[in-house]
Amino acid sequence: CLKLLLLLQIQFANAEDKQEFQKYPTKAGRRSLSRSISQSSTDSYSSAASYSDSSDDETSPREKAQANSKGSSDFCVKNVKQAEFGRREIEIAEQDMSALISLRKRAQGEKPLAGAKIVGCTHITAQTAVRHLPPPLSLSPTGVPVFAWKGESEDDFWWCIDRCVNTEGWQANMILDDGGDLTHWVYKKYPSVFKKAQGIVEESVTGVHRLYQLSKAGKLCVPAMNVNDSVTKQKFDNLYCCRESILDGLKRTTDVMFGGKQVVVCGYGEVGKGCCSALKALGAIVCITEIDPICALQGCMDGFRVVKLNEVIRQMDLVITCTGNKNVVTREQLDRMKNGCIVCNMGHSNTEIDVASLRSPELTWERVRSQVDHVIWPDGKRVVLLAEGRLLNLSCSTVPTFVLSITATTQALALIELFNAPEGRYKQDVYLLPKKMGKTMEDLIDKNVNKYCRY
Ligand code: NAD
Repeated sequence: CLKLLLLLQIQFANAEDKQEFQKYPTKAGRRSLSRSISQSSTDSYSSAASYSDSSDDETSPREKAQANSKGSSDFCVKNVKQAEFGRREIEIAEQDMSALISLRKRAQGEKPLAGAKIVGCTHITAQTAVRHLPPPLSLSPTGVPVFAWKGESEDDFWWCIDRCVNTEGWQANMILDDGGDLTHWVYKKYPSVFKKAQGIVEESVTGVHRLYQLSKAGKLCVPAMNVNDSVTKQKFDNLYCCRESILDGLKRTTDVMFGGKQVVVCGYGEVGKGCCSALKALGAIVCITEIDPICALQGCMDGFRVVKLNEVIRQMDLVITCTGNKNVVTREQLDRMKNGCIVCNMGHSNTEIDVASLRSPELTWERVRSQVDHVIWPDGKRVVLLAEGRLLNLSCSTVPTFVLSITATTQALALIELFNAPEGRYKQDVYLLPKKMGKTMEDLIDKNVNKYCRY
């Protein structure tokens, strides 16, 4: 369990894949000994534009024979020899992860996850990325099997998930997911896991949405905890994390000057609010698009012009999607953008911008930096596409340690709650963290408030 908590310190939100869940077996089961696995996503672990991996060889990690200091080869990372550097990065991160450390201390006595076998799938990004050392490398030697590396392909991504789930002599009884991909894979390929699983903890908007769909269709076969909608996650992670990391991601990839730039932010939810406020503060001229009238009105109250994307697209210097929706920026709109327009996504994986439509013969792609492509039209117009439409901050920037800590702590509390719940408390449905746990979380935060609030 402790290993899992440590692992959680460096994990972050993910939201992938559009496929629907398919199979739905039944029944929750019970516990045994704990071990956890992490994994990256199609967004993959990656760092800033200047990232340079000292082990930069072309061999796929899948083809490398590696073993950690304990002789185990039950992991797949780029270069396990760099583990010690990653370990130091984690130690630095711990300094701003007081909520998680407090929970870890409490858990040392009570051992609330003793017997849990947790399989997890989430981004392995975090602040360590920017300091150039991939955290997966430091986790493998701790005994936590990690399958993740920078630059995973789609195929690698699913391979990693499969390696985590399909392990001889070990079967998970808890699922920690972030986007729903792992849950999807288990439903599709290993439905028998749900016979023993006690629950799913899901972090992202998208993953939660998929769980509600399953539940509505009567196909959810274990209890699931919706971490995304817990106040501690949403108010900090979606809002403040994005408020900070949007700027970082843009600077690292494009060196853009924000002052005076015409920006349109699509979606004025928590993520959109964070992005808008950061860009406005730096002198950008920000307008928003919204489909929800309340959020649109909020945008107006906050001083942003609410527009239709089609009407402004030609003038924009920067287009940012934050909706969690599909095809928010279409090929037609990409065609109409002006030369040099920067396009990026902070919302759901790579579905918000119709990137697939840009892979057509009349357009030329030019990789100008890591995570930065120029897509060139026949008349010479260039659109600057960041992270191939995947999440900008998770692909190209650091994210604040403090926020990660709060989100990870909420996830850990959700795991503890589901794992220890008496029979019958949770049915095959989606739940919010109960107030009791929320209070525990508040206590943990309160303890650390003095560090930030001088009153
Ligand atoms: P939210 O529900 O609070 O906000 C989304 C907003 O987008 C809503 O107001 C909705 O009305 C609007 N919207 C939907 N479709 C639209 C469209 N076609 N055009 C304009 N507006 C539209 O959700 P949120 O918390 O802001 O999260 C948004 C997305 O960001 C989710 O997919 C979530 O998983 C993701 N997310 C990303 C990060 C990150 O680090 N990049 C962090 C948290 C969440």
